[in-house]
Amino acid sequence: MADRPLHVAVIGAGPAGIYASDILSKSGVEVRIDLYEKLPAPYGLVRYGVAPDHPRIKAIINALYNVLQRGDIRLVGNVEIGRDISVDELRERYDAIIVATGADRDAPFNVPGADLPEVYGAADFVYWYDGHPDYPRTWPLEAREVAVLGVGNVALDVARILAKQPDDLMSTEIPHNVEAGLRQSPITDVHVFGRRGPAQVKFTPMELRELGHVPDVDIIVYPEDFDYDDGSQAAMENSKMTRQVVEQLTEWVFQEEEDMTASRRIHIHLLQQPVEILGEDHVSGIRMERTELCGDETVRGTGEYIDYPVQAVYRAIGYYSSPIEGLPFDTVRGVVPNTAGRVLSEPDGQVLTGMYATGWIKRGPVGLIGSTKSDAQETIGHLLDDYRANMFSPTADELGWESMQTILESRGIRYTTWRGWELLEEYEKALGAQEGRERIKVVERETMTAISRGEPHDGKLY
Ligand code: NAP
Repeated sequence: MADRPLHVAVIGAGPAGIYASDILSKSGVEVRIDLYEKLPAPYGLVRYGVAPDHPRIKAIINALYNVLQRGDIRLVGNVEIGRDISVDELRERYDAIIVATGADRDAPFNVPGADLPEVYGAADFVYWYDGHPDYPRTWPLEAREVAVLGVGNVALDVARILAKQPDDLMSTEIPHNVEAGLRQSPITDVHVFGRRGPAQVKFTPMELRELGHVPDVDIIVYPEDFDYDDGSQAAMENSKMTRQVVEQLTEWVFQEEEDMTASRRIHIHLLQQPVEILGEDHVSGIRMERTELCGDETVRGTGEYIDYPVQAVYRAIGYYSSPIEGLPFDTVRGVVPNTAGRVLSEPDGQVLTGMYATGWIKRGPVGLIGSTKSDAQETIGHLLDDYRANMFSPTADELGWESMQTILESRGIRYTTWRGWELLEEYEKALGAQEGRERIKVVERETMTAISRGEPHDGKLY
């Protein structure tokens, strides 16, 4: 082991990158950790993926804040690795690099009509309502009836935000442009579609139950969509969560019709798969095929089709990672190829010394935020094993931050720091205080950057 601190660069300041940095910083090894983030603000999908009306999950930010405010992990925001700084430049200057860039876009979806203009990715919509600086400020909320494909928690978020009355979002951090967009939405009905049965939905019980408490929104579930095969029975026996979800869905089937008086509705349809999005130039409907369970929780089409009149389709069928220039990428799985966190070269599958992955870019976009911690444990364990085995050999004369700072400044890259984030937080909280809210997000990237750097700005919020 070298007679100097270990220098590690982490790419991505979301939960995966922060948990990995935290575990490494507490490992007992003398280490300098630089946490690179392409946005001017940290927290990744907790800030830009968790729905604004989920304060309990947003509160994970408090734990992430506690890690970063200690000061032993250096946050370097507004720097995109692969664009502003190459992966090779990092490799020359750090002993090890941990990729923790998550899954930031929608999985591909191909059925006839999927290219019509009103077919949207859930991730894009989430970025809009969560005020992501790199996405458009307006969203075309013109449809009265909408289809949401997929029965995971992202589908629930999308359906809930679409159906919720904007007044019920006004205690949250949503930016003003999002409030204005939601207020003009004429929506009345959101149809959520699952291609398998009730025991195969991916909702978690608490998030599903929450749907039943949204004011002025009725939940409608159809008895003909309920069927169970042997695989379903086994899933319900083995998983309390599955039983709870099925119980909740069943409860909604038995609601009294006279209790359904809300002006907006979320319909949950099961055992139906999308086959075509209808419409010439614009979406006018969606054609679903009834499916049946095969015994092992998979389904097959029955040849029976049902058309639903909808004017927009949101696909919430899973996230997908973006490749990073200079790093191998498995386009089938949408991950950086790795073995238990050690990155592998493509196509020969050799371990790339000093390169690691953690979080969704390592294992794909599944699992709640907490599961990222055990993932980081595994990756950091291997990194430390390799360190102790003297595997690292960066080549630059000067290592770590001093060397990188020189490069960033010579390129005129306006990087942001932890102190900068504290300034932006103060600004957002002051904006919120004017309206009796905890925070209102600043969306405009230039304003975020200037506030963080203590530079003059025109106060443009979105
Ligand atoms: P997910 O849980 O994997 O759900 C994806 C859904 O899309 C599944 O129902 C899947 O059905 C369906 N699907 C996939 N391909 C399809 C196709 N071609 N046609 C129709 N349906 C298709 O993914 P997610 O909703 O993106 O969530 C990702 C993770 O983030 C999950 O772990 C989730 O719990 C978490 N999350 C949590 C919250 C929260 O509030 N706690 C909020 C958002 C996300 P099959 O099962 O049949 O493949």
